[in-house]
Amino acid sequence: MSKAYSIAVLKGDGIGPEVTEAAVKVLEAVRDSTKKLDFNFLYGEAGYHSIAEYGTNLPPDTIALLKRASACLKGPMTTPEEPGAPVSVAVTLRRIFNLYANVRPCLSFPSVEALKPSVDLVVVRENTEGLYSGAEFELAPGVGVALRIITREASTRIAEFAFKLAAKRRKHLTYVHKGNILRITDGIFKGAVKEAALKYPDVIVEELHVDAATMQLIKKPESFDVIVTTNLFGDILSDEAAQVTGGLGLAAGANIGETYGMFEPVHGSAPKYAGKNRVNPVATIMAASMMLDYLGEKEAAGKIEKAVMSVLGEGKVRTADLGGSCTTIEMGNAIASKITAL
Ligand code: NAD
Repeated sequence: MSKAYSIAVLKGDGIGPEVTEAAVKVLEAVRDSTKKLDFNFLYGEAGYHSIAEYGTNLPPDTIALLKRASACLKGPMTTPEEPGAPVSVAVTLRRIFNLYANVRPCLSFPSVEALKPSVDLVVVRENTEGLYSGAEFELAPGVGVALRIITREASTRIAEFAFKLAAKRRKHLTYVHKGNILRITDGIFKGAVKEAALKYPDVIVEELHVDAATMQLIKKPESFDVIVTTNLFGDILSDEAAQVTGGLGLAAGANIGETYGMFEPVHGSAPKYAGKNRVNPVATIMAASMMLDYLGEKEAAGKIEKAVMSVLGEGKVRTADLGGSCTTIEMGNAIASKITAL
């Protein structure tokens, strides 16, 4: 008998529909090839394009649909930048479902040009507070302030998540902060990491200031295993790490809480490429693999990763970001066919 999962799919804006369609096609290939899994895809409205119709980028019906699903596969969405506009859907979902851990693996891919060939690191970013708390005000005309909220509770929770992950990997954890300047907020974060470390004596712990970390990620990315850091630093470091290993078109991210997971590409909606069928769907396909892993379907998740590695390694199907001329659909189809052939 096959195991069935309801998966909420939010296609998103810009290139979102193209890359999520490719990922759904890959999930269907997994379903058809294993015969042990079934997916009920629940499509929800969300994103910039929803504002005109619903007055919000995350309509209540979509929130209800997300709650009925086992997990969410989310396409990238355009975030309006004007003051007073709806906040980012990703940020709202992280809050509603308390998705406190943002997990962004950065892996070297075969035959993909990268700064270094043997990178295998994960950025674990605190996802619910810091400079993304949404507490930003204009105190007086021309005088703005944003609150960087760091709590012991959230810092401990993310530190323990990162240590647990490091213990299963190469047992090396780097915590990144700017405690020399942000003495109170990053002092709290540092204290929480040091306390969590006591429970994991086998994990080697190092610390880096964020400016040094950005440099080290370029110079010696292979020296990192798990990086744990606060919200904004993690956002920036994970985009940088993605570029080190071949670009945003390949980087996936998971947003994980106690009872729910949301999976998305690290990249945004890249509006200038919308509808052009030329961007790389691998990031979203790898997000689908992370989702299966989260659901406990390790074999199926591994199958997707293996198919991606195999297609990239062969080097015949390449999208423009990888120096080729293949389309989004061709890349998605090549990975889906590889799954069928594995
Ligand atoms: P972006 O990630 O959309 O695009 C930056 C550049 O990266 C693109 O111009 C393109 O050259 C490259 N790129 C991105 N995705 C690619 C892919 N799949 N294949 C190949 N190349 C790819 O970043 P941006 O231009 O800063 O943001 C555009 C919009 O996306 C903004 O509204 C931003 O707020 C939003 N955004 C959303 C999310 C999210 O939904 N989680 C994340 C980041 C940005």
